[in-house]
Amino acid sequence: MRCPFCREDNDKVIDSRTAQDGAAIRRRRLCLSCNRRFTTYESVEKNALKVVKRDGVRVPYDRAKLRSGIEKACWKRPISAEQIDEMVARIESLVESKFDAEVDSRFLGEAVMEQLRAVDEIAYIRFASVYRQFKDVQEFVKGLDAILKTEQS
Ligand SMILES: [Zn+2]
Repeated sequence: MRCPFCREDNDKVIDSRTAQDGAAIRRRRLCLSCNRRFTTYESVEKNALKVVKRDGVRVPYDRAKLRSGIEKACWKRPISAEQIDEMVARIESLVESKFDAEVDSRFLGEAVMEQLRAVDEIAYIRFASVYRQFKDVQEFVKGLDAILKTEQS
């Protein structure tokens, strides 16, 4: 990313988070040439990350789906929407730091579990049980629906 002050392309990302509308990633960058900081907004679609499922099929990464899975795991738990957004942002920056164009669905699942485990044990157990059953992040939402129905009855 070219620095708006000195025009050098020599920066380091110092913070990365989801913008308020959820459609962009806001990055704080430090220019290593002039030491000034600047902010960039990048649309998520730009990177067009693909998720590789266990059967090898590649599907577009779907933030709404990931968020919805986490949200359902956190249903009726003392977890705010902000905390959920933070979990999504942490997972995405982890993925970005490790992968370029494709991420294994198992990695996503494990990353979600790690985030949930740190925040709420019940939500973690819900998600983990669905994860083991379905073994695919794309199927989590359906499975979580079933589990929440059982808990309610
Ligand atoms: Zn600079």
